[in-house]
Amino acid sequence: MAPLCALWAVAACVSPTPPALPLPEAAPRALDQALEAVSPVDSVVVILRIGDGKVLASTHGAAAWTISEPPGSLLKPLIAIAALRAGAHPDREWTCTGRQAPREKLRCWHPRGHGKLDLLGALERSCNHYFYRMLETLPPDALARVLREAGLGAPTGIDAAAESPGVLHVDSRPVEGLASALGRTGEIRVTPLQAAVMAAWLATGGARVTPRFHAAGTEKRIAAQPGPLFSLVREGLRRAAGPKGTAAALGEAGFDAAGKTGTAGWVNGWKTHGWFAGYWPAGRPEIAISVFVRDGTGRRDAVPLAVRALEEYRRRRDSL
Ligand SMILES: [Zn+2]
Repeated sequence: MAPLCALWAVAACVSPTPPALPLPEAAPRALDQALEAVSPVDSVVVILRIGDGKVLASTHGAAAWTISEPPGSLLKPLIAIAALRAGAHPDREWTCTGRQAPREKLRCWHPRGHGKLDLLGALERSCNHYFYRMLETLPPDALARVLREAGLGAPTGIDAAAESPGVLHVDSRPVEGLASALGRTGEIRVTPLQAAVMAAWLATGGARVTPRFHAAGTEKRIAAQPGPLFSLVREGLRRAAGPKGTAAALGEAGFDAAGKTGTAGWVNGWKTHGWFAGYWPAGRPEIAISVFVRDGTGRRDAVPLAVRALEEYRRRRDSL
């Protein structure tokens, strides 16, 4: 298959990463081993400490920063940020009628529709229709600007070799833009590490965290004082991990977490990859987490793995 990064820019295919560095610890890391023991082979779990960017877990070798895949609905919070900045009102409601909506070019995944939703409900339930409506209101390039700001389409700067920059080619037309944002056209691809950095960006209200294996001595405190716009989106992501949300299993397991699921189609849409990107605790975020499961879905596969990852992290946090 031709490299998809050619869709974006040829130069982006050559990652400007520094010379190869060894993985930081010669001995296998305990948290990585524990997570790999409960993970499918074709999956990746990344945990970043938000305060200093230290990579606390990264399973299955270098996969976290060398593979890139369509992110699916992980990008909906970023669509919300772009739309709110452009003047969208979070109380504005749209009615989702599901797959049967006669005039929709891009239908919702929910067969019968989500009904009437505001922004928080749309983030909680991951309604395609709502975000399509938001994209219709956006000026050209507004979404692409937010995606770049959140760290997509460029290397994160991790101190490891051969980092993929992912792919970022956003169509400014609403239908095509949502299709690319949902990963249906293969024009946006993110690495699991970028997904974790994106989650940290949301958690901190817009601070970009540079992931580091060798983080000792570089700790910097990032004030988790998001402005009203980020606070709103964070509330939606917290509800996504609540009883009615697509990541409800986190709340059911006792984690007051926040985040977004993603289920990205490939092979003409009849196979999917599952994602989760979020942070914990929701109120005072300490870590960002991303989970990718090949041939899976966000809710069924990635979220339960995120639960296991948080359990393993919590068990070891004092020794990390
Ligand atoms: Zn819907």
